[in-house]
Amino acid sequence: MTDNDMTTTDSTADDELVFIATTDIAARTKGRAMPLADFDERSSLGWVPANLGIGSLGHIVEGIPYGSTGDLRMLPDHSSLTRIDGIPGRPPLNIVFADLVNPDGTPWESCPRTFLRTAVTELREEFGIHIGAAFEHEFVDVSATGDHHPFSLQAFRQAEPAGSRLVTVLQNAGLEPENWLPEYGRHQYEITVAPTDAVTAADRAILVRDTVYDVFRAFGREASFAPVITPGGTGNGVHTHIGLRDAEGNNLAWDPSRPGRLSELAGSFAAGIVRHGPALAALFAPLVTSYLRLAPHNWSTARCFLGLQNREALLRICPTNEMDGRDPAPQLHFEFRGGDIGANPWILLGLLLRAGMQGLREGLPTPEIVVGELDLDGAHAGLPQLPRNLEEALETLKADEVVTSWFSPAFLATFEAIKRDEYATVRTRSLAEQCAMYTEVY
Ligand code: GLU
Ligand code: MG
Repeated sequence: MTDNDMTTTDSTADDELVFIATTDIAARTKGRAMPLADFDERSSLGWVPANLGIGSLGHIVEGIPYGSTGDLRMLPDHSSLTRIDGIPGRPPLNIVFADLVNPDGTPWESCPRTFLRTAVTELREEFGIHIGAAFEHEFVDVSATGDHHPFSLQAFRQAEPAGSRLVTVLQNAGLEPENWLPEYGRHQYEITVAPTDAVTAADRAILVRDTVYDVFRAFGREASFAPVITPGGTGNGVHTHIGLRDAEGNNLAWDPSRPGRLSELAGSFAAGIVRHGPALAALFAPLVTSYLRLAPHNWSTARCFLGLQNREALLRICPTNEMDGRDPAPQLHFEFRGGDIGANPWILLGLLLRAGMQGLREGLPTPEIVVGELDLDGAHAGLPQLPRNLEEALETLKADEVVTSWFSPAFLATFEAIKRDEYATVRTRSLAEQCAMYTEVY
């Protein structure tokens, strides 16, 4: 062995693993690792269909269509390979997202990432629409004690050095962090990243949450993204920004001559999301405590409507920055505010794109754009409600033939079995216990 070989053998790169990852109905990142040195274009690892039946509470539920037989392969998407380094006390993490395929390489009927990828392809091929997206995550430092003043410098400083390190780690991993801020809720923070193509945006969302856990733990703290940490407390949302562009990058949502400066095309897209909003709830707000958050005065989602710069809207037309003559045309886009950490980001974004696409296919007219404050006792009393709890959400999903047609019957049966099991277990607890259960998991 030459000196050179010795150097290579001793270098940490040779000991490194790559974690091949998927994310399931429970929105927990799962997978298996192999030596990075052996990882190449032909690499794939085995996976089990029944794993899809592991719910938030961490067990495979009864009554799912996937059993002890059957095999899948995790097929890595090499473009998603990311290296997360610089977390104190942790080796670097190489992670790559995989599509779940049958052993012959054909797509698996229930792969959540394929669900998003096919929606992206259909929108591009059928409508020439290229999606840009970004996820914003709110979470609470549940290990923090003492005073918290909303948005304050002291709250920002209390999260140090974890906060600064988090931003640096995300930056070095190429995840393009944009804003790191102390939020309104008690010891609540928010991290945002730059928009990118839809699949990468959802991949990033998964990496962001797992990196937050890791960085906070490395500093002896505990982060939780659970929708509500304590009953009556401020909610943690996962807000999804969506832009519609053509192949040249022009903003297809922009039309200054129309209400909300929203183009007819974007109006139809929004109409699909608003029309199917109640049926989508089981999937974008899939936890028992999700429904504590989706209520008026929480700045989350009071009702199912399209709002102009309104933080209680399910779908919000975001403001534009027009200072110093900046052009609003490329900026106008939507923010979907209903989602939370229980939703798999690939499914969440895939749902929104499919609902929007349904609006386009049917040429739906732009829905009412709510301007100004919400008046639920007056002018806005008739706005559609979202389901009030997970059970109602599951019934509403079942009754919507359009939404259910997007999924394989086996996926839907698995989803329903998981959520019914979860609802039955969690609802018997006090609200405080329900919140505590999800705070542990998420
Ligand atoms: N915390 C709110 C939520 O549950 C969002 C607040 C905000 O507008 O950032 O969605
Ligand atoms: Mg926020």
